[in-house]
Amino acid sequence: MQLPAGKTLGGLNRGANLNRAAPLRPASMRSRAAPVLAMAKPSINAAATAAAPPTAASETDLILKKLRYDFGKLTPETPRDAYNGAAFALRERLIDQMEATHEYWRKADPKFTYYLSAEFLMGRSMMNTVLNLGLQGEYAKALNEMGFKMEQVAEAERDAALGNGGLGRLAACFLDSMATLDLPGWGYGIRYKYGMFKQLVDRSTGYQNEVPDIWLTDGNPWEVKRNDVRHKVCFGGKVEKKDGKSVWIPAEEVWAVAYDNPVPGFRTPTCANLRLWDAQPLEEFDLGAFNAGEYDKAMLARERADAISAVLYPNDATPEGKELRLKQQYFFVTAALQDVLARFKAMHGTSNWDLLPEKASFQLNDTHPTMAMAELTRLLVDVEGLSWEQGVKLTSQCLNYTNHTVMPEALEKWPVKVLAKMLPRNLEIIEIIDEGWQKWLKEQGKSDEEIKRMAIIHPNQWNPDEMLVNMAYLAVVCANRINGVAAIHSEIVKDELFNDFYKVFPSKFQNKTNGVTPRRWLNFCNPELSALITEKLGSDNWVNNLEELTKLRAFATDKGFQEKWQQVKRQKKIQLAGLIKQMFGDDVNLDSLFDVQIKRIHEYKRQHLNVFSIIHRYKELKAMSPEQRKQAVPRVCIFGGKAASSYDIAKRIVRLINQVGNKLNSDPDTKDLLRVYFIPDYNVSLAEKMIPGAELSQHISTAGTEASGTSNMKFQMNGSLILGTWDGATIEIAEETGVDEVFIFGVRAHQIHELRKTRKDLKTDPRWDAIMEDIKGGMFGDAEYFKPLVDSVHDMNIGNDWFLLANDFADYMRAQGEVDAVYKDQSEWTRRSIMYTAGSGKFSSDRTVREYAEDVWNMKPCRPQ
Ligand SMILES: *Cc1c(COP(=O)(O)O)cnc(C)c1O
Repeated sequence: MQLPAGKTLGGLNRGANLNRAAPLRPASMRSRAAPVLAMAKPSINAAATAAAPPTAASETDLILKKLRYDFGKLTPETPRDAYNGAAFALRERLIDQMEATHEYWRKADPKFTYYLSAEFLMGRSMMNTVLNLGLQGEYAKALNEMGFKMEQVAEAERDAALGNGGLGRLAACFLDSMATLDLPGWGYGIRYKYGMFKQLVDRSTGYQNEVPDIWLTDGNPWEVKRNDVRHKVCFGGKVEKKDGKSVWIPAEEVWAVAYDNPVPGFRTPTCANLRLWDAQPLEEFDLGAFNAGEYDKAMLARERADAISAVLYPNDATPEGKELRLKQQYFFVTAALQDVLARFKAMHGTSNWDLLPEKASFQLNDTHPTMAMAELTRLLVDVEGLSWEQGVKLTSQCLNYTNHTVMPEALEKWPVKVLAKMLPRNLEIIEIIDEGWQKWLKEQGKSDEEIKRMAIIHPNQWNPDEMLVNMAYLAVVCANRINGVAAIHSEIVKDELFNDFYKVFPSKFQNKTNGVTPRRWLNFCNPELSALITEKLGSDNWVNNLEELTKLRAFATDKGFQEKWQQVKRQKKIQLAGLIKQMFGDDVNLDSLFDVQIKRIHEYKRQHLNVFSIIHRYKELKAMSPEQRKQAVPRVCIFGGKAASSYDIAKRIVRLINQVGNKLNSDPDTKDLLRVYFIPDYNVSLAEKMIPGAELSQHISTAGTEASGTSNMKFQMNGSLILGTWDGATIEIAEETGVDEVFIFGVRAHQIHELRKTRKDLKTDPRWDAIMEDIKGGMFGDAEYFKPLVDSVHDMNIGNDWFLLANDFADYMRAQGEVDAVYKDQSEWTRRSIMYTAGSGKFSSDRTVREYAEDVWNMKPCRPQ
């Protein structure tokens, strides 16, 4: 592969980094100068030397140097100071490693996969970097010398919360696995200035309040701005015909400017990249307008551009801001595609387009990036001048689509009117694709009725005058492969959601059961359990080969091993209790069963079913004599999760949980036996603390509604038992762990339709009715406020109990009773806990990503030598 001088892969500009880094090195680091300088004449050998572990003394020097010259501080006074020094020191290592990786990949020219996602929920990076690079000894020592503990320093980092929940966290786990497996892969997304909102909960009233997540104010050491990597993004205007060709004359243009976020693999020299785009105006400032005294107008372009990459949308929100959301999606998709095509042309010229599918594969994370279907065609045909046929063919060979939900409101549909205004040429392309698609269906002998059902552009079912573009249908028609995210979900995708399409091309559809990275979700967040596992298995190879955990099954009933397992769990419970103490000032009974439900607040996830059952438990305890109470299993019920700001019922659920907590936690009769805590502002870092301390976790969605779930996998890895419904990946977790080990309740997915339709045979329970009356009677205050919540599940004229809480209640209480019974037998509980961890190997995202690589991306690892 030959590149003209100065051109680098993806604009990874080696020269710039070198010039800056070299003179800053302290005297004691001159011995390290060689590998850095070696980068000037890029060679494959540079990769290995650049990543070579330094000595501890040099780490201290580097940290102090960064602090001195980047922050103007001679010594770190606070953990945040130490964090700044350490993070910017680590950043240099990451950049060296990323440069070396890409230098190698530039020469080897392997196939790449580009993961396009509107969300990347990365969480904190410092510990992940230290541990993935194998620098824990050096950094612990260096920070100790400065008077800090590494864990304390890590706490000073703010979460990068550029995602809502599971979907965004999945993208982050996949990047970790791709890098760890040496798969050439990049993420592409948006560098939101404000990520997921911060959730505040008023302690006395229980209301959720949202404040912006201003995460960039203190600087972000984990990114590198690439001023020289930018692409033009156009909006609006009109399409004109010239010589029979469509020419888009846009009304508005902005730059997409690249920020690279190195993604180090675990125990490998590979360091991949997450490239996030920031919107910038073409003209910073309109001096003419300013001179004419029009100050606001002078800044207009800047403000309009800023708005594009300003905020992450809460996924369950109402259609407000539709135009801006569409702009965001198009913005990052076109920037990513232009970036990949530019790199492809630099590598392979402009006459080898048939090579594109052998060099590039794209995975679209849900419908948010599916404008790529029209955009790649547009770029290939309008910009690169390929024929329509070739453009469409290459598009469908390169793009793959993952479906994440069966909730109709989350499957995006854009009004044709909005598209016509915002992206007129893309609309035209979608119309041509739709026309050809319908014509082809007719040729296949499909009926008019069937064709109507499968049309990409169709009338709004609530407002037949409005035409909509169904982005999921566009994706299904154009994609090379389509997948669901757990076995049951992929079946629903084939049999219900896209059944018509499945019948047309069955071989396009696949299942890829989600996974999570065992580095962050077991090895790093639970070092105590990891050490025990490593001790038992004789090595820590399991971190990269999670299936090895099955060997733990042999020790599940071993008394000595059980005791050690219990000791570790106790330690993690003490840490979680410490968090509760710190947040609420309460000491909780450590012999209680720690019962955790943490996830976005949603009616389908049924946090209200959980809190209703807690109310029932409370009433039972109140009715008991002191003697009887001694027999009860004490519980600490812990909740966490954000309600979308516009999701009214979800906010009422948050408040009910808090109000129930307020009452129960101060009731002298029961407070040693039942507590309820709502941990505000649930995010990745809190998840890392809460999951290892959980003994039971709840995944109680109405069967058929949770596509996969991924927190269930994190809990399983950490030996938390599961109380759940037969839904999403929980089914596969049960199969791997042993179906009898999991507390399962509720109706099955295939029964739901009938139940909802006929509402016959719906189960009722007097205990349920009593709970509803208690809430409506004001047992937890503000009866008026909670009435709509109760009505949504209890008044058959209003909410109609769409998610079937009442129906599942009795079986849920039965399963809860089983939980208590097993908990009384601590040896049996511990045996199950070991069996959970032992059965979690399948749910490593390494397995998931390997399956994508083989079945969808058709690519191989390429490890820098
Ligand atoms: C894993 C994770 C999720 C997904 O949780 P589910 O229970 O699968 O919905 C959401 N948010 C955060 C912060 C996570 O780490």
